[in-house]
Amino acid sequence: MSKKPVALVTGASKGIGAAIAVELSRQGYDIWLNYRSDDAGASTIAAEIERLGGACSLLCFDVANAEAVASGLESLLAEETPEVLVNNAGFARDGLMALMSETDWQSVLDVHLGGFFHVTRQLLPAMLKRRRGRIINIVSTSGETGVPGQVNYSAAKAGLIGATRSLAAEVARRKILVNAVSPGFIETEMTTDIPKERVLPMIPMGRFGTAEEVAAVTAFLCSPAAAYITGQVLSVNGGAYM
Ligand code: NAP
Repeated sequence: MSKKPVALVTGASKGIGAAIAVELSRQGYDIWLNYRSDDAGASTIAAEIERLGGACSLLCFDVANAEAVASGLESLLAEETPEVLVNNAGFARDGLMALMSETDWQSVLDVHLGGFFHVTRQLLPAMLKRRRGRIINIVSTSGETGVPGQVNYSAAKAGLIGATRSLAAEVARRKILVNAVSPGFIETEMTTDIPKERVLPMIPMGRFGTAEEVAAVTAFLCSPAAAYITGQVLSVNGGAYM
């Protein structure tokens, strides 16, 4: 039996990353599941993947920490190069710019932009050598349009969109495709505190999206059907931003 390709998904102990890990497992990938702190959540997702007949390795490290990323991936990368990388790990620290602390500014840039840089840099040389790969960055509507209270998060996600396009141009000749998926309001832990009555009128479809709806689009971008798509931002937002 031939070996399955590997997909590394960051921030997959819950929410959108967990749904992506499960969907990519269904599509025939062995999963390297990164997370930062939620051991129980990560183990539950790994068990779900194994119940579906897949394989899942748990990788606990902070994507914002370059040394932790390098040592967390070192032994696995010596044996194997993932075919797919999904840079999904992240969080928001919302607040008005006038009151924003240095920590809230820097930590959000570190997790989204630093995380993308540290993890992608580890995989890229081997992907380039193999001349094959898909990199998907999970961005946000907030990186495409202005959102009050999210100057840090918008800056990080807009930066990640720029990085997606530049990297796509850099590696296209080596058949590595780099795209972004841009969710709107999705039902996860990250959005539990958002008052729905205030937000729903801004969404033409009148509901939040599900993590599975984001996972389906991510899996499409990893599939043979998406072989001529690179440098694009695919929105999954119920029409919230057109
Ligand atoms: P979530 O439910 O809060 O899950 C976040 C995941 O990221 C968790 O697995 C968490 O791990 C992990 N994580 C956070 N910081 C990390 C770090 N430094 N290193 C490694 N892993 C880390 O969030 P979500 O809603 O699924 O969001 C996932 C991605 O989608 C984020 O990039 C977010 O910005 C983006 N997004 C979300 C929405 C939305 O409406 N939910 C909309 C647009 C974009 P632990 O829990 O184990 O610490």
